[in-house]
Amino acid sequence: MDLQRLTCDACGANLDVPDGVQFVNCRHCGASLQVQRTESVVYTKVLEAIQENTDRVRQNTELLRLQGQLAQLDRDWDRVSKSLMMQGKHGGSYVPTRTSAVVMGTVMPGFGLFWLVATTNAGAPAFFSGFGVLVIGLAVCMSIWTFVKACEYNDCQARYEQERSALMNQMRRLGI
Ligand SMILES: [Zn+2]
Repeated sequence: MDLQRLTCDACGANLDVPDGVQFVNCRHCGASLQVQRTESVVYTKVLEAIQENTDRVRQNTELLRLQGQLAQLDRDWDRVSKSLMMQGKHGGSYVPTRTSAVVMGTVMPGFGLFWLVATTNAGAPAFFSGFGVLVIGLAVCMSIWTFVKACEYNDCQARYEQERSALMNQMRRLGI
């Protein structure tokens, strides 16, 4: 049986095709090829079905790339959100919210003010009443700090969710 040296139409690899064979699969890329014979030349041609196959491969590659991006995005957000969390009194961390900032900025100074008025009225020493002033000052600072962190957290979260839904849309468009 004579072998003809042809090249794959899809990947360019050398193929040894027996004489008279009309269809062949490329050993290198797996493409289904039709052997075209004319008076002067013999060459291979990728069958239509394979083109679709190649499109699917490209689509899968694109999907894998998007999935990789998504995983990276989630990892990044996990890291960023942890770094933006506030440390609680008992070692745990919590997400800073504007509400908690406002509560902190009203309840604690309220307590400080109450302490100040009550101890002053009772004729307590100045340093004793001064504790109330300290509480007010501390509470206001913590409240502002929490508020700033809450805004930062919200901004980052919004950006993360926006990028995530954009990626999800791209993946949906690929038909997944
Ligand atoms: Zn090939």
